[in-house]
Amino acid sequence: MSKTIFERIIAKEIPADVIYEDEHIVAFMDIKPVAPTHALIVPRKPIARLEDANAADHSILGHMLMKAPAIAAQLGLAEYGYRLVINNGRDAGQEVPHLHIHLIGGRKLAWPPG
Ligand code: 5GP
Repeated sequence: MSKTIFERIIAKEIPADVIYEDEHIVAFMDIKPVAPTHALIVPRKPIARLEDANAADHSILGHMLMKAPAIAAQLGLAEYGYRLVINNGRDAGQEVPHLHIHLIGGRKLAWPPG
Protein backbone atom coordinates (compact mmCIF):
# COMPACT_ATOMS: atom_id res chain seq x y z
CA MET A 1 0.00 0.00 0.00
CA SER A 2 1.21 3.52 -0.71
CA LYS A 3 2.38 5.72 2.14
CA THR A 4 -0.07 8.03 3.87
CA ILE A 5 0.64 11.74 4.09
CA PHE A 6 1.59 11.24 7.74
CA GLU A 7 4.15 8.56 6.92
CA ARG A 8 5.66 11.00 4.44
CA ILE A 9 5.76 13.77 7.07
CA ILE A 10 7.36 11.38 9.59
CA ALA A 11 9.95 10.36 6.99
CA LYS A 12 10.60 14.10 6.36
CA GLU A 13 9.70 13.62 2.70
CA ILE A 14 7.27 16.51 2.97
CA PRO A 15 7.52 19.46 5.35
CA ALA A 16 5.45 20.04 8.46
CA ASP A 17 5.65 22.30 11.49
CA VAL A 18 6.96 19.62 13.85
CA ILE A 19 6.67 20.65 17.50
CA TYR A 20 7.73 17.43 19.25
CA GLU A 21 9.22 14.08 18.31
CA ASP A 22 10.70 11.07 20.03
CA GLU A 23 11.25 7.42 19.19
CA HIS A 24 7.51 6.59 19.23
CA ILE A 25 5.62 9.71 18.14
CA VAL A 26 5.78 12.85 16.07
CA ALA A 27 3.60 15.91 16.76
CA PHE A 28 3.06 18.66 14.23
CA MET A 29 0.64 21.50 13.56
CA ASP A 30 -2.48 20.69 11.51
CA ILE A 31 -2.42 22.26 8.06
CA LYS A 32 -6.15 23.18 8.32
CA PRO A 33 -6.64 24.18 11.96
CA VAL A 34 -10.17 24.07 13.36
CA ALA A 35 -9.24 26.27 16.34
CA PRO A 36 -6.50 28.80 17.17
CA THR A 37 -4.23 25.91 18.18
CA HIS A 38 -4.51 22.52 16.45
CA ALA A 39 -1.77 19.91 16.52
CA LEU A 40 -1.68 16.22 15.64
CA ILE A 41 0.03 13.54 17.72
CA VAL A 42 0.96 10.66 15.43
CA PRO A 43 2.67 7.33 16.16
CA ARG A 44 5.68 6.61 13.96
CA LYS A 45 4.22 3.13 13.47
CA PRO A 46 1.57 3.29 10.72
CA ILE A 47 -1.43 1.91 12.64
CA ALA A 48 -4.43 2.76 10.44
CA ARG A 49 -7.00 2.90 13.24
CA LEU A 50 -7.59 1.57 16.73
CA GLU A 51 -8.84 -1.78 15.41
CA ASP A 52 -5.43 -2.32 13.83
CA ALA A 53 -3.50 -1.86 17.08
CA ASN A 54 -2.32 -5.03 18.77
CA ALA A 55 -1.07 -5.98 22.22
CA ALA A 56 2.44 -4.81 21.36
CA ASP A 57 1.06 -1.31 20.71
CA HIS A 58 -0.15 -0.68 24.30
CA SER A 59 2.91 1.34 25.15
CA ILE A 60 2.69 3.44 21.97
CA LEU A 61 -0.98 4.28 22.57
CA GLY A 62 -0.26 5.06 26.20
CA HIS A 63 2.68 7.21 25.22
CA MET A 64 0.51 9.26 22.83
CA LEU A 65 -1.83 10.18 25.70
CA MET A 66 0.87 10.57 28.33
CA LYS A 67 2.78 13.05 26.16
CA ALA A 68 -0.28 15.16 25.34
CA PRO A 69 -0.08 17.39 28.46
CA ALA A 70 3.55 18.33 27.80
CA ILE A 71 2.82 19.07 24.13
CA ALA A 72 -0.25 21.09 25.15
CA ALA A 73 1.85 23.02 27.68
CA GLN A 74 4.44 23.72 25.01
CA LEU A 75 1.62 25.23 22.92
CA GLY A 76 0.40 27.38 25.83
CA LEU A 77 -2.77 25.36 26.46
CA ALA A 78 -2.05 24.06 29.96
CA GLU A 79 -3.93 26.73 31.91
CA TYR A 80 -7.27 26.81 30.09
CA GLY A 81 -7.35 23.26 28.75
CA TYR A 82 -7.75 21.59 25.41
CA ARG A 83 -9.56 18.77 23.67
CA LEU A 84 -8.11 15.48 22.44
CA VAL A 85 -9.99 13.83 19.57
CA ILE A 86 -9.52 10.60 17.63
CA ASN A 87 -11.57 10.34 14.44
CA ASN A 88 -11.68 6.56 14.09
CA GLY A 89 -13.22 5.35 10.85
CA ARG A 90 -15.62 6.66 8.23
CA ASP A 91 -18.49 7.90 10.36
CA ALA A 92 -16.09 9.87 12.52
CA GLY A 93 -14.73 11.61 9.44
CA GLN A 94 -11.26 10.04 9.52
CA GLU A 95 -9.47 11.24 6.39
CA VAL A 96 -5.94 9.99 6.95
CA PRO A 97 -5.71 6.23 7.64
CA HIS A 98 -2.89 6.59 10.13
CA LEU A 99 -4.02 6.79 13.76
CA HIS A 100 -3.64 10.27 15.27
CA ILE A 101 -4.84 12.37 18.17
CA HIS A 102 -6.04 15.90 17.40
CA LEU A 103 -4.95 18.31 20.14
CA ILE A 104 -7.22 21.34 19.88
CA GLY A 105 -7.51 24.51 21.96
CA GLY A 106 -6.99 28.24 22.21
CA ARG A 107 -10.68 29.08 22.58
CA LYS A 108 -13.77 27.69 24.32
CA LEU A 109 -14.83 24.61 22.33
CA ALA A 110 -18.43 23.63 21.65
CA TRP A 111 -19.85 20.37 22.99
CA PRO A 112 -21.37 18.17 21.69
CA PRO A 113 -19.56 18.22 18.34
CA GLY A 114 -21.63 18.45 15.15
P1 5GP B 1 -8.70 13.10 10.29
O1 5GP B 1 -9.87 13.67 9.53
O2 5GP B 1 -8.10 11.93 9.56
O3 5GP B 1 -9.02 12.82 11.72
O4 5GP B 1 -7.63 14.25 10.36
C1 5GP B 1 -6.62 14.44 9.42
C2 5GP B 1 -6.02 15.79 9.69
O5 5GP B 1 -4.81 15.89 8.99
C3 5GP B 1 -6.91 16.95 9.22
O6 5GP B 1 -7.20 17.81 10.32
C4 5GP B 1 -6.07 17.64 8.15
O7 5GP B 1 -6.19 19.03 8.16
C5 5GP B 1 -4.66 17.19 8.51
N1 5GP B 1 -3.77 17.12 7.36
C6 5GP B 1 -4.03 16.53 6.17
N2 5GP B 1 -2.98 16.65 5.34
C7 5GP B 1 -2.03 17.32 6.04
C8 5GP B 1 -0.70 17.74 5.71
O8 5GP B 1 -0.18 17.52 4.62
N3 5GP B 1 -0.01 18.40 6.69
C9 5GP B 1 -0.55 18.65 7.91
N4 5GP B 1 0.21 19.30 8.80
N5 5GP B 1 -1.80 18.27 8.25
C10 5GP B 1 -2.53 17.61 7.33
